Amino acid sequence: MASLQEIIRKHALKNAADHGKAMPSKIIGKVVAEYPAAKSDMKEVARLVAQEAEKVNMLSLQQIQQELSKFEFKAKEEEKKKELALPFAIEGQVVTRFPPEPSGYPHIGHAKAAWLDFECARKYSGKMILRFDDTNPEKESQEFVDAIKEGLAWLGIKWDKESYTSDYMPALYDYADRLLAAKAAYICTCSQEAIKKSRESKTACGCRSRTIEENRQLFEKMKEGFFDEGQAIMRFAGDMSSENTVMRDPTLFRIVKKLHYRQKDKYCCWPSYDFSVSILDSLEGVTHAMRTKEYELRNELYFAILDALSLRKPQLIEFARLEIKNAPVSKRLILPLVQEGKVDGFSDPRLPTLAGLRRRGIVPEAIREFVLEFGLSKVESQPGYEKLFWLNRKFLDRKAQRRFFVPDPVLLEIENVSPRGVAIKNHPNIDLGSRSLIVGSRFYISGEDAKALQPGEVFRLKDLYNVQLVQKESNKLIATFKEETGEVEKKIQWVPFEGAVSCIVQKPGALFDDEGNFRQDSLQEQSGFCEPSCIELPQGAIVQFERYGYCRLDQKSRSHLTFIYSC
Ligand code: ATP
Ligand code: MG
Repeated sequence: MASLQEIIRKHALKNAADHGKAMPSKIIGKVVAEYPAAKSDMKEVARLVAQEAEKVNMLSLQQIQQELSKFEFKAKEEEKKKELALPFAIEGQVVTRFPPEPSGYPHIGHAKAAWLDFECARKYSGKMILRFDDTNPEKESQEFVDAIKEGLAWLGIKWDKESYTSDYMPALYDYADRLLAAKAAYICTCSQEAIKKSRESKTACGCRSRTIEENRQLFEKMKEGFFDEGQAIMRFAGDMSSENTVMRDPTLFRIVKKLHYRQKDKYCCWPSYDFSVSILDSLEGVTHAMRTKEYELRNELYFAILDALSLRKPQLIEFARLEIKNAPVSKRLILPLVQEGKVDGFSDPRLPTLAGLRRRGIVPEAIREFVLEFGLSKVESQPGYEKLFWLNRKFLDRKAQRRFFVPDPVLLEIENVSPRGVAIKNHPNIDLGSRSLIVGSRFYISGEDAKALQPGEVFRLKDLYNVQLVQKESNKLIATFKEETGEVEKKIQWVPFEGAVSCIVQKPGALFDDEGNFRQDSLQEQSGFCEPSCIELPQGAIVQFERYGYCRLDQKSRSHLTFIYSC
């Protein structure tokens, strides 16, 4: 078991990482919760916490995160598991579904929904269905189906069954007919304007009193293509006076005369989301149907449709929609950015699409932990990306090889050294092998380091040797070799002049400012040199450029590399 001191240190680090500064008042409770014995001397705990907070506040964020990644937060894990508890769940019989519309690329919000469906099913040894909710030929395509499947597979989500709402059209027509026969639905031929007005004034239109026979004939005509778009719809006979606007005779079927990516020209009379989702959940055996909170008003309709058809009713569960500050976590917001060419396709590293996150070196494990931390809570929040990046660093720390990169390079010449070969470990404390470098007397160091160095200063070329700066010239620095006599505080990364590989690091920033305007400068670039061994990295490799950050190799040619800054 960890000592009190360790526990205090851990929570002080965590508090600083989450809020930018460790605040003793916020830390004490967490310490006592994990180490109840501390209660016997609260004064001493308060003193130790204050002391530790002060120490932690002297560290850089990077140091904090590095140290923090060594700790486990067990209590959180257990809390999370509890939050995923489903009402009326029977072990082995839970069925969940993730129902994306293939009308765009999956984003981190979809990851949240899909992870919840997947983890809840798994918790009860149940099953998860991936259902493409594809009943709007105008917006959907096979490209999007493929992107969703690829995104989920990349996340590590496995579904037990794959289905398409549009494959159920004959059954959906059949249920529609049953509703007509039960007088629970009717065909409305009013104009859209008239329908809107009657909904506002809570009055039913004359169409509602059509006979069953008339309705059936009109529905046949709708299916046959007799009507043009907007000329006829099927409506649920709800309650025009209901306070819930959703219940004022909502649309169940509409005409859309466009080629469907999967069914081609087979159908022109398409069901609404409300109609198809309730019936399919019931037919496919879904026991727990989860969706985001903004659907809450539609729950009444969901159950009314199933009641009218005497179909089995699943449990409906809502959770908060994921939003991220200054990021477009919605297909509706992402699509125009792509269409208007403001971003480089759906995998632009500034986008919260799974393809974009992947391209900027965010690992699936980090996304999973980030989204599951919200659990099934309905509390809405708008976190920034910091937490995701923090988790990402935690996962990458253990597997990313270290390399040197020097941005805005400046030449450094060392007097009185002879060329030598050196092997440098790829990771400071995990065995990830090593790389060999041949170094002469000329190096590149970063412009920032060069600027900060003062003549006479002794510093270490990291993992190589110590030198002392002699002189700063306009186009280079000159230093001399220095024998090792104890620890040198300043250690900087370098790249050998011979074989230095030219590279660019693209740094993705927030797409929008606080006023919601698109930021023209949201993608920054930094150029410099990285070590010769980087040319051997495979495209897609994620490395830690020491004292810089994690970067993913996006493109490579024989002599030039393009990385994307991750976190
Ligand atoms: P949008 O088009 O705005 O991205 P949507 O709800 O129309 O959102 P769908 O493809 O229909 O997108 O969503 C499939 C599932 O993913 C739904 O259950 C929906 O609730 C969920 N979902 C979509 N966006 C988010 C989000 N930002 N946070 C959490 N869940 C989401
Ligand atoms: Mg939708």
